Order: sequence, then structure tokens, then C-alpha cells
Amino acid sequence: MEKKRILTGDRPTGRLHIGHLLGSLQNRVKLQDEYDEYIIIANVQALADNFDNPGKVRENIEELLCDYYATGIDFDRAVVFIQSEVPEIDEIFVYLANFVSIQQIQHNPTIKTEIAQKGMDKSTPLGFFMYPIHQVADILSVNADLVPVGKDQAPMVEDTRRLARKFNSTYGMDVFNEPKALFGVEINVPGIDGKEKMSKSLNNCIYLSDSEKELREKVFKVYTDPNRIHATDPGKIEGNVAFLYMDLFNDKKAEVEEMKRRYREGNIKDVEVKERLFEVMNEKLTPIRERRKEAEGMKDELLRKALEGSLKTSDIAKETVEQMKKAMLLEFK
Ligand code: ATP
Ligand code: MG
Repeated sequence: MEKKRILTGDRPTGRLHIGHLLGSLQNRVKLQDEYDEYIIIANVQALADNFDNPGKVRENIEELLCDYYATGIDFDRAVVFIQSEVPEIDEIFVYLANFVSIQQIQHNPTIKTEIAQKGMDKSTPLGFFMYPIHQVADILSVNADLVPVGKDQAPMVEDTRRLARKFNSTYGMDVFNEPKALFGVEINVPGIDGKEKMSKSLNNCIYLSDSEKELREKVFKVYTDPNRIHATDPGKIEGNVAFLYMDLFNDKKAEVEEMKRRYREGNIKDVEVKERLFEVMNEKLTPIRERRKEAEGMKDELLRKALEGSLKTSDIAKETVEQMKKAMLLEFK
């Protein structure tokens, strides 16, 4: 029996951070045997808000490859591919665009937030505005069943399901599955500055490639309770990023609860919490950091594998295009 398919991926706009790890990467590693897994390096979409800086996008392809290897993606099992090497996605995008209204995109909460964050309120490049449809084309190009993503991508996967349904019902043909989202954690991992989402573009990240020293410095800058001045002041846990990371990285739940109790009572110093946070995070990130060093020397090999993966993906996407064309009466042979 054929395995079910996964489509997931990242934009090459920077190195990967702990939000990626917890939101999506861990699930990718866990499921790479059970599923046929396709991992897209979305360089065309990265250009949408970086078109004037192609060097950045190009350089970060290699960074992503190293981050994938570091977290345990096996390039011989999962198919890593480069979006621009699979032009069928662009063709699929054109056909799907017929099914989406401008108003629907305008109401997409992720797009709204991103437009505001990027200062594009007055003038939004059309390429950027359309990227949610392009992303649907990524997912549908391999007819995925499952999409491991972070919570911010929930609206995009919902759009994908709606479009797949609409395409099938319009042409009376079952061309597409309705893929499901799979979230690694039920939140967007916040930035060290307390902002709602850790994001490559927001400069508030703990990167998988950070050295032990950088990790320590960042942990000590993590947003806690701004109103707590002395260690004897009762502190707040809600919105306190140090405790949020502690929940995500410390498996000893009883210890975490005890620390929270002491924090609320004004019975523990911020530095003590952060020292322990550094320890638990460093424990989880050290093996990744070490594998990443190994990957640095393998960049050419990893890129070659990604190009092979692109050919493989392109073959599958061609089949999808064929089926779509058949449904839309665009076949002439
Ligand atoms: P950019 O700021 O350039 O958009 P990004 O940090 O948002 O970069 P993406 O490449 O857009 O990263 O996202 C790749 C994947 O990682 C997506 O599945 C996304 O949902 C997930 N992800 C990104 N940031 C977080 C986060 N803070 N918490 C959980 N998941 C995240
Ligand atoms: Mg993003």
C-alpha cells in the first residue's frame, strides 16, 4: 500500500529557531518513515517580501539544509526540494487563483498580521498578497494528506482544504485530498522579547545554530514579569516567556510547578529561573548544535540531494497538473 504524504517546509529568510523546532520540525523527524515526506524550501515565496535582496534568500537555502540535517531530517528518506526548481507549482497556483477572492485573503488573520508587521499597510506587493494561494499550490502539488506546521499557518491549511473541496466539486472530479494540519505545539512559540511569535524577520529568535554562549545571553534577556523588581516581589507566570519556555523544554513537570509556586510567592530570583532554563534548553539544543557543525562540511552534498528531491517532486507535480487540466478541459491529446 502507498504511504500517505506530508508536505511541509520553510522560507529561506534566515536560520531556523526553536519555534520551528517545536512547531514543525520535531513532527517532521518523527513522521519521516511513516509518511512519504516532502519538505519545501520556499524560495519563491521568500522573494515575495525580499525581492530586492535575492542574495539573502539564496544564502539561507544552505542554512536551512544544515538546520534540517541538524535536527535529524534524513535526506535519503524525506524528499527535500527547492520551490523554484518545481515550476509546476506556479502553474497549479494560476489555476487555483480562480477560486479565491481578494476579500478572502484580506480577511486571513495571518496575512493581516504579517502585512502590519512588515509595514505594508499602505502598499502591499501583489506577489506577497497572493502567497497564501501559492502556498496552497505547494501543498496540493503533491496532493498531501498531512501538513505539519506552526499555529500561525492554521488559516493557510484551512484555505487549502476549502480550495481542494471547491476544485473537486466544481469539476465533479476527486483530484485533491483535503489535507489536515498537524501542530507540534498549540501556540506560536513567542520571541525572547515577549512578542507573540518568534520570527526570523522580527529579530527575537533563539536559533538552533546559536552557540552555548549566545544561548546563555539570550536566555538571560528573556522577557519575564516587567513589574517584578526584587526577588521578593510576587511574580506573574502568565505572559512570562521564561516560564513558557520552561514548560516547553523542561520535562520535569513537578520541578516546574514548584518553581512557578516560588515565583508567585516572591521566593525565587529571576536569575535562578533563567539559570535553570539555560540548563534545560542547552541540554536539548547541544546535540542539534553538534550535528549542525557536521552539516557545515556537507553543504554541497545536501544541496545535491535537494536538487534530486526537486526532480522527484516535479514528476509528482506534473501528474497533478495533468489531472487538473483534465478536469478543466485543458487537454488536447
Ligand atoms: P518569516 O518571519 O520570514 O516568515 P518564520 O520564522 O515565520 O519566518 P517560516 O519559514 O515562515 O518562518 O515558517 C516555517 C514553519 O515554521 C511554519 O510551519 C511555521 O508555522 C513554523 N513556525 C514559524 N515560527 C514559529 C513559531 N514561533 N512557533 C511555532 N511554529 C513556528
Ligand atoms: Mg512566516
